[in-house]
Amino acid sequence: MRRRLVADRRPRAGVTLHRFFLPPSALRGDGVIFPAETSRQIERVLRLKPGDRVVALDGSGTEHVVVLETVGRTTGGSIESTRDNEAEPATRLTLYQGLLKGAKLELVLQKCTEVGVSRFVPVSTARAVPAEPSASRQGRFETIVREAAEQSRRGRIPEIMGTVRLQEAISAACAAGPTVFLWADEQNFRLEDLSLPTGGLTVNLFVGPEGGFTEDEAELARLAGAHCVTLGPRILRAETAAIVGSALLLARWGEL
Ligand code: SAH
Repeated sequence: MRRRLVADRRPRAGVTLHRFFLPPSALRGDGVIFPAETSRQIERVLRLKPGDRVVALDGSGTEHVVVLETVGRTTGGSIESTRDNEAEPATRLTLYQGLLKGAKLELVLQKCTEVGVSRFVPVSTARAVPAEPSASRQGRFETIVREAAEQSRRGRIPEIMGTVRLQEAISAACAAGPTVFLWADEQNFRLEDLSLPTGGLTVNLFVGPEGGFTEDEAELARLAGAHCVTLGPRILRAETAAIVGSALLLARWGEL
């Protein structure tokens, strides 16, 4: 069944609550003790007070409305109600992204999280900038994705995997589900021409690096069973292609 946004799912004006993903250790029975960083944000940035409500997300797709009881050095509260998150796509989309320079990859992580990507896999390819992210950079990527997931009201934080080589990425993807390979030189076959199975799926999207995929790489993808598709006659920047491709693909299952 297509999931649709219905009017009564949207919070009414004035009752939009701040949302925080919390580690499992923060949730204790009916109570929540917020981690130090969240606590600081609640107290100093948002200036919330005891009695105010926030939403605590346990990362499993469940969300808890929490009434704050203490705000300060330790911030905590009690769970008032629990509900299923309704924004999380039923279709699990993995974006395999050819390596991009820092700021571009950050843009892809943030925007594609908002759009509904569930997993990001950086891919090294023939024309990709071959720099692996440092540990601090990886930490920054994780913060970007968590904040984008909170802001867009998702129930889970998308995963960011380690970098893999294209050949391995394609084999893993094609074994896991339908795989779409954005190929700028494809003349005819468009994303909307794909016949796709319905319901509860894992799907994969490959987007090239700034220099694009090579002919050999597209051939490799084809032989493995991926669908090479065009997004039309205009060549998009890699980060634009990732956002547009993710949106068009998820829209095929009514997820946008
Ligand atoms: N300079 C490259 C283009 C790279 S664009 C070239 O001319 O081939 C970066 C990536 O975005 C591409 O590898 C592809 O995956 C995707 N992309 C951009 N525009 C596209 C289009 N019109 N159709 C399909 N894929 C596209």
